Amino acid sequence: MARETKRQVQFVIKISKFCNLRCSYCYEFEELGQRERMSREQLRAMYEHMRDYYVKRDREDAARTHVHIVWHGGEPLMIEPEYYWQSLEDQREIFGDALTVSNFVQTNLTVLDDERIRLLRDGFDHVGVSVDLFSGLRVNIAGRDQQSRVVANMERLRSEGVPFGCITVLTRRNLGRVKDTFAFYEKAGIGFRVLPLFDGAYDDQHLAYDITVPEIVSALSEMTDLWLESDTPVQVSPLDSHFQIVLRHLNPDAPRVYFNQREWMSVMVVNTPGDVYAYGDPYEDPEASLGNIFTTPLGELLSGTRFEASAVAAETRMAANCLNCKYFGACSGAPIASNRDNVHTVVDGIAVCDVERAVLEHIELRLRSSDVVDPDGRIRAAPAPAVDPVA
Ligand code: SF4
Repeated sequence: MARETKRQVQFVIKISKFCNLRCSYCYEFEELGQRERMSREQLRAMYEHMRDYYVKRDREDAARTHVHIVWHGGEPLMIEPEYYWQSLEDQREIFGDALTVSNFVQTNLTVLDDERIRLLRDGFDHVGVSVDLFSGLRVNIAGRDQQSRVVANMERLRSEGVPFGCITVLTRRNLGRVKDTFAFYEKAGIGFRVLPLFDGAYDDQHLAYDITVPEIVSALSEMTDLWLESDTPVQVSPLDSHFQIVLRHLNPDAPRVYFNQREWMSVMVVNTPGDVYAYGDPYEDPEASLGNIFTTPLGELLSGTRFEASAVAAETRMAANCLNCKYFGACSGAPIASNRDNVHTVVDGIAVCDVERAVLEHIELRLRSSDVVDPDGRIRAAPAPAVDPVA
């Protein structure tokens, strides 16, 4: 019997734009006072459309899809926990045994009480905390830095046994503190993602703390070196996947992978009114929306003229960048085709893959100058384990 292919899809759910903070760089800045949220019925309709589409696709492709729901905002924990418990119950009812699902929440962790701790521990599968450590840009409406409160709440999560990871946005304010940032997470044993600053909500929003592409590359390269030199390394994204790409690149026998949005759309954003966007598209632009998942079957959203335009745009980005990139195949092209977070430069309307490629080069250089790879670039075989004569 043929083995089932396992695959994943991620939906970033903008449950509400409402937030108690006003982080200077927030790309939702102008909407953070809006209290509208998705209703329970709308979420149920979304789950039904997901189930109908992926169960059918799984049957056709002899595959098994795992759905990742990422609760995102605004600040998702401004909403009462009961709302999420009901929706998690709705997921169990609607997905049943047909689909597996996990729930991730991205929070600023400024609002935490016993009920929210219970939700984070027993309701959600993963928790991501947004904290920049040295920027001073994560402020409340009065402009006061919330850092100490967040770090105190991180301590509380640890003492309550709630595992979590962090996201740190890289700006000019913390650019010089890469070493301290890494040391903080290393000492705490917390994995984290470095997210270089990208486009904001309006022109000139980032003027006071913007960073250049060479600065981003330099910071990520420094982070790479710190990670390689660490005796107790923690997981650092996206460097973990970058290492995998370089190791695949150095191994001629490793399978090649190519992103193809027409075959599988791996990440989508669902905006608060229900409009769906490919993660590579500008989701603030209604013209880029694939349609509404509350009212429209997912199969219709992932076909038709809007989907075609989105797929062509992704293919155009790949053609302009990946076809002359030595990592193409080891890298699927997804970093530039389907991840708007990676766009820092646009030339003639087309995004340029200037950060990812340069960081891959740096990692390759470091591996080649270590004893991990042979002079010909192949991964050095691990020495055979010594035989214990007593055993
Ligand atoms: S250009 Fe960028 S996205 Fe494309 S293969 Fe190279 S590193 Fe990957």
